[in-house]
Amino acid sequence: MSSAAHIKMPLEAKRPAAPLIDPFARPITYLRVSVTDRCDFRCVYCMAEDMEFLPKRDLLTLEEIDRLASAFVERGVRRLRLTGGEPLVRKNVMSLIRSLSRHIDNGALDELTLTTNGSQLARFADELAECGVRRLNVSIDTLDPDKFRAITRWGDLGKVMDGIRAAQKAGIAIKLNAVALRNFNEGEIPFMIEWAHGEGMDLTLIETMPLGEIGEDRTDRYLPLSKVRRDLAARFTLTDISYQTGGPARYVRVEETGGRLGFITPLTHNFCESCNRVRVTCTGTLFMCLGQEDAADLRGALRASEGNDLLHTAIEEAISRKPKGHDFVIDRTTRAPAVSRHMSMTGG
Ligand code: SAM
Ligand code: SF4
Repeated sequence: MSSAAHIKMPLEAKRPAAPLIDPFARPITYLRVSVTDRCDFRCVYCMAEDMEFLPKRDLLTLEEIDRLASAFVERGVRRLRLTGGEPLVRKNVMSLIRSLSRHIDNGALDELTLTTNGSQLARFADELAECGVRRLNVSIDTLDPDKFRAITRWGDLGKVMDGIRAAQKAGIAIKLNAVALRNFNEGEIPFMIEWAHGEGMDLTLIETMPLGEIGEDRTDRYLPLSKVRRDLAARFTLTDISYQTGGPARYVRVEETGGRLGFITPLTHNFCESCNRVRVTCTGTLFMCLGQEDAADLRGALRASEGNDLLHTAIEEAISRKPKGHDFVIDRTTRAPAVSRHMSMTGG
């Protein structure tokens, strides 16, 4: 019997599904859902070592996550990304993924994907492929096992590599995500590009974002990607390309390797004007913008009735408040995080 048997098929809403358009005429077509705030790593820029996680009772059940994500799909969301915390450490997460794959099968979703640290990927790769997952983002900030252990506080790079190979073998395309960190991986980035492209993977570099207290000063690690790009341009020929994955990255082709390199630059380049996405936390809080505090509780609406009318009303009301953009800043005078929640709450 497949693990999907654990999930009861939710009732789909009966009312007509108008697309979600925000006040700046941006259609909302991309939903990221954090399925857990827990993680088996403690990356230093993401979490404090002694992170306190939410009590299990506060989390949406897998059935509730399915109902919520499916309500967004009805309203025009075409891409769904599960994230966390580490999505693959949530108990029974495969039953959720299998259930959501019905939207891929019936053409309502263009993409069902995950952002993962890769630690559990070797176990789940084949099943993910069976569920219609065609691409995965795997986060790796260094290719040096000792540095990997240090940045994740205890992660095993070998396991992540096994996971990547298993996913590739299952036919899943991998995009690597690396957070650019001063005095950590700055000198390694050219090698990471050559390695990723040699293995047939895109690589995207991310600037550190000031999300949540992490017990250290982020300015020490902040590395603007404008500088990284200048340095890379001295070594490689970088050609701007129009390639888009529906996310915020801007891509170049590295002519020497023939591979794609993405830059996610929330701090040096404001990417908000084309924002098509919203995020839901594992407690059912909808954040209309990663860089703003304003949020809407959807858990109350989910639990208030079995039908989805209240849920749709709460979603519409929230989207009508989606702000134009974020106000991130990292400098020596702004030491407090721009927003107090951690990335592991809203997911990357
Ligand atoms: N655990 C999974 C992983 O690491 O891929 C998914 C969740 S993680 C929060 C998603 C992405 O956010 C990762 O690529 C991670 O490197 C990135 N991230 C975490 N904290 C960040 C921060 N403060 N600034 C920028 N990126 C961050
Ligand atoms: Fe875990 Fe991902 Fe955060 Fe690292 S970045 S601590 S793997 S949630």
